[in-house]
Amino acid sequence: MLTSTDPATEILRTTFGYPAFRGDQEEIIGHVIDGGDALVLMPTGGGKSLCYQIPAIARPGVGVVISPLIALMHDQVTALQTLGVRAGFLNSTQEADERRATEQAALRGELDLLYLAPERLTASSTLDLFDRLQISVFAIDEAHCISRWGHDFRPDYLRLSLLGERWPGVPRIALTATATPATRTEIVERLGLSDARQFVASFDRPNIRYRIEPKQQPLAQLLKLINEEHAGDSGIVYCLSRASTEKTAEALVKHGVNALPYHAGLPAAVRAANQSRFLREEGLVMVATIAFGMGIDKPDVRFVAHLDLPKSVEGYYQETGRAGRDGLPATAWMAYGLADVVQLRQFIETSGGDAQHRRFQGQLLDAMLGLCETAGCRRQMVLGYFAEASGPCGNCDTCLAPPEQWDGTVAAQKLFSTIIRLDRERNQRFGAGQIIDILRGHKTPKVEQWRHHELSTFGIGDELSELQWRAVVRQLLATGLLAVASDHGTLAITEKASGVLRGAEAVQLRQDTVVRAARSDRSSTKGSRKASAVAADLAGDELDLFEALREWRLEVARRESLPAYVIFHDATLAAIAQLKPSTVDELASVSGVGGKKLETYGPGVLDVVSRTLTPQAEPPAGHEFGDRVDQDDLVWVS
Ligand code: ADP
Ligand code: ZN
Repeated sequence: MLTSTDPATEILRTTFGYPAFRGDQEEIIGHVIDGGDALVLMPTGGGKSLCYQIPAIARPGVGVVISPLIALMHDQVTALQTLGVRAGFLNSTQEADERRATEQAALRGELDLLYLAPERLTASSTLDLFDRLQISVFAIDEAHCISRWGHDFRPDYLRLSLLGERWPGVPRIALTATATPATRTEIVERLGLSDARQFVASFDRPNIRYRIEPKQQPLAQLLKLINEEHAGDSGIVYCLSRASTEKTAEALVKHGVNALPYHAGLPAAVRAANQSRFLREEGLVMVATIAFGMGIDKPDVRFVAHLDLPKSVEGYYQETGRAGRDGLPATAWMAYGLADVVQLRQFIETSGGDAQHRRFQGQLLDAMLGLCETAGCRRQMVLGYFAEASGPCGNCDTCLAPPEQWDGTVAAQKLFSTIIRLDRERNQRFGAGQIIDILRGHKTPKVEQWRHHELSTFGIGDELSELQWRAVVRQLLATGLLAVASDHGTLAITEKASGVLRGAEAVQLRQDTVVRAARSDRSSTKGSRKASAVAADLAGDELDLFEALREWRLEVARRESLPAYVIFHDATLAAIAQLKPSTVDELASVSGVGGKKLETYGPGVLDVVSRTLTPQAEPPAGHEFGDRVDQDDLVWVS
């Protein structure tokens, strides 16, 4: 086995089973072990946890982790325990005696990591406990929760400034995946981390393919994505409203997709049960509002779909970042249409708060719309938003199939003239539907009722289809040439439009791709489910072995009631399938197989390997591990 004299590397290899640090991990960990404060900005899946877990193990005393993710603490701690790390947690879901037992364990020096909900900081008993403990490090996870303007604000986080004041000798490490400079500044100020070293990682997630398509029949489009590309995969579908999460989940189930809803309006017990099923079962689709997701560290979420437009690029990037944490190919897909733009613009216009706040919200939305409508590389644009320079990525829809552009100047002028005529001649404002009917010369009852067929622009736009006109309106709204003028979604032109009206400025529009409806016949995908993304690189007996290992893992997971990925990730199973180890040492060389897991699961894995590759052979003797484990394995393997 690999050995190292450096304690951090030693822990990485023997406890976590990883051969090497990623990115800045080594430097961050070294800095904190030496007692320095740190602010760590890394994208979701970047590997933030090790940055505080390893210092907590390496330094004397217990590492205190402040995390808002109460519902996940139990799983987080169990996952650490399966690695042989001495971990516990304190939060409101526990009975008092359970909490006391954990506190006692900490006081006896039996814990390396103690997870704590922020609201416990208001209890004087917690502060007393901290006074009596030797604390190795304070880790402040999801540190952006301290930002009052962010979408995840937790008032309890404001108390965290006391950690530095009351225990100045203990190093503090704050971590977040929210990258904007404004959030960073707020974290530094509120936590008093101005002397902390800042580590800013690249926010690129190269394994995620970004795709945004026009919304036509959202459910059919979603089904097509799932059936044709992600059958049997775990995924998250984001909707804006609670009602639509339930409706969509129901519709998916009706079409044979294993789906559950999640939103803040569901009873706590239902939420917890659905979340737990999502984490434990394979191939479940969670249809959720943004209430779901923070801290969900399930590594094998293969797709994140948005059925509604997120309010900001930060939100979009955080939500899509939940796909593909294991580094294997994953999809971030979104369907977006005219109604989304109108709804969100309107929402901002009519929201309370001062003008400055509305302007700020408007800017966030503008950036999001720019991303939807760009003809350039999506990834380059997102990274640019986070002030990171990059080139075209080759792994987003616009790179893979550059959209065609067309000169929409005349179309825009026709649309603007119609709006101006309605306004000046009739003192009226209408929404997109009526204006498009006028342009296309449709004598609908509503057109007749308002005598809009008498307008001089009636029928001047019949060269474009209804769908094409909607795309024009959407893009003009996105670029700010049009505005939503009221809470009824009526349209108005903006000052920016005058150049176009005069013919001094041209309007380039992108050609929407026409979306095919989903095939109703799923028989080709049903049943023959493989872990597509991982299995793609495997051939012949490797694939058989991989499937056998997955079956073995499922049984172990059920028996131990653990999420399957806590036992081994898909990527680890795939690496085992490729290596086909026959000895413990060979197995130990696989990334993701640490000492404790080798001891617990090694015999089972080696047994599956040998049985799958030589079906008639005797089971291996397994004497290296003693009889006990081996006997157990034989019961549930095969
Ligand atoms: P974050 O908290 O930044 O979203 P995690 O800490 O959950 O990310 O790490 C994401 C995944 O990457 C986890 O499955 C973790 O085990 C894995 N990982 C982290 N560091 C390494 C490493 N050095 N080598 C291999 N895998 C790693
Ligand atoms: Zn690209």
